[in-house]
Amino acid sequence: MTSPVRYLAEAGFLGKFYIDGEWRKPVGSATASVVNPATEQRIADVALGNDEDVDSAVAAARKAFGSWSLTPSAERAALLDRVHGLLLERLELFAQALTCEMGAAITYARRAQVPLAAEHIRVARDNLATYPFITARGRTAILREAIGVCGLITPWNWPLYQITAKVGPAIAAGCTVVLKPSELSPLSALLFAELMDAAGCPPGVFNLVNGTGAIVGAALASHPEVDMISITGSTRAGVLVAQAAAPTVKRVAQELGGKSPNIILPDTDLGRAVPLGVGAAFRNLGQSCSAPTRMLVPRSRMGEVEILAAAAASELVVGNPLAENTTHGPIANHPQFERVQAMIRVGLEERAKLVIGGPGRPTDLRIGFYARPTIFSNVRRDMRIAQEEIFGPVLSIIPYDTADEAIAIANDTVYGLGAHVQGTDIETVRAVARQIRSGQVHLNHPDWDPNAPFGGYKRSGNGREYGIEGMEEYLETKAALGFYR
Ligand code: NAD
Repeated sequence: MTSPVRYLAEAGFLGKFYIDGEWRKPVGSATASVVNPATEQRIADVALGNDEDVDSAVAAARKAFGSWSLTPSAERAALLDRVHGLLLERLELFAQALTCEMGAAITYARRAQVPLAAEHIRVARDNLATYPFITARGRTAILREAIGVCGLITPWNWPLYQITAKVGPAIAAGCTVVLKPSELSPLSALLFAELMDAAGCPPGVFNLVNGTGAIVGAALASHPEVDMISITGSTRAGVLVAQAAAPTVKRVAQELGGKSPNIILPDTDLGRAVPLGVGAAFRNLGQSCSAPTRMLVPRSRMGEVEILAAAAASELVVGNPLAENTTHGPIANHPQFERVQAMIRVGLEERAKLVIGGPGRPTDLRIGFYARPTIFSNVRRDMRIAQEEIFGPVLSIIPYDTADEAIAIANDTVYGLGAHVQGTDIETVRAVARQIRSGQVHLNHPDWDPNAPFGGYKRSGNGREYGIEGMEEYLETKAALGFYR
């Protein structure tokens, strides 16, 4: 199979943006290098846009909005159906792109990053079959209408998945969009733009402009012709976007950072829960906003948990992401590698107990942004490693004495995105789950549910993605009085 980089280079897409149904040259000449985190080699240069590129993409989206927002649901569902089919057909190409742009283990990209991304499109398609865009309330009609032109800003950690989680529901709602993917992992986004074209997306409905947050992201956020911004990224960027969007009174949906707790109740089957908890914390190498990176454990069971957690972490195979037996590749990029290393050093300086891992690369890996899966124990709730999002393979085990204290620790961060509760007595598990201030809570490691709304309390964000709620983010409500006689 042709490599994704060669595929994009031969088509000439690396230096272009997808605007109004065609591949256009950018106005300026700025570029950014894409670095393969496994080799530290530059593998491609992509064009970076500016305000004028944003203007032309937004104008195309505005022009298309009038007709697209009035299409019958079935027409939008048919487009999403073709997109879904093509994503699965091109699964291997996308998986290879993700591996070289952000280091996902190829097995994980094939099994999770791409198919779960396709699920967001499928769910958006299926919701269109039943969603009541008009309902009667007496003589008044309640109409749910597309909000307009949407700027979609996405991060590098689950690049394709974050794109489909926005594009699927926005297009289902009847919106038109301008996507600005992360400048650190733009290859899968370029492939996605080509896929939208191949799926027969009408010109202007989907547009892509690559660029930095400070230039293209900020231009979208402040643009008077953009009605809504949805950003997934750091709390820092989410705040800047909201500030830039305020003067034009846009709707702003923010999916931001997290520091999710995993409460292990005293009656938990540790042999099942601890390995699953470690696996969840280190999924995608901990580069997941809702990774449960704080494991809260009854003080009397700390010893048992440390042994089980270390055993689970030692089974992870960190290495060449293209190898079939690798479970975890490198950290996605150099700034993030440095941040993870710095936070591991902070944990040591704070005198948390190092259970496994530590600073530096695994001994057999000298090139590549590889980190050692690291577990700290005896972590106090006020330590930086208990409070700050690390976004890497670092798990903090925190002791507690009573269930009330566990709940208090779970809620004791500025974040509120994900949470987990483990225990045998389901009534207690449910009661604890209800007291956690977060947008999702997982009871005893259930299967992933693409229909479950996802989003944050507190500084983890505003709004919800996935499922029906994910599409409703992109809808306005119109009350038409006297609509019915
Ligand atoms: P980031 O905030 O650096 O960048 C995210 C996106 O925002 C990028 O496209 C970036 O270019 C853009 N951006 C940055 N500054 C901007 C600005 N001033 N104006 C407009 N756009 C701007 O985040 P990242 O490093 O790419 O991703 C990691 C972060 O994303 C973590 O904090 C993680 O928790 C969060 N995240 C959240 C979710 C979620 O659903 N809640 C999912 C994945 C990642």
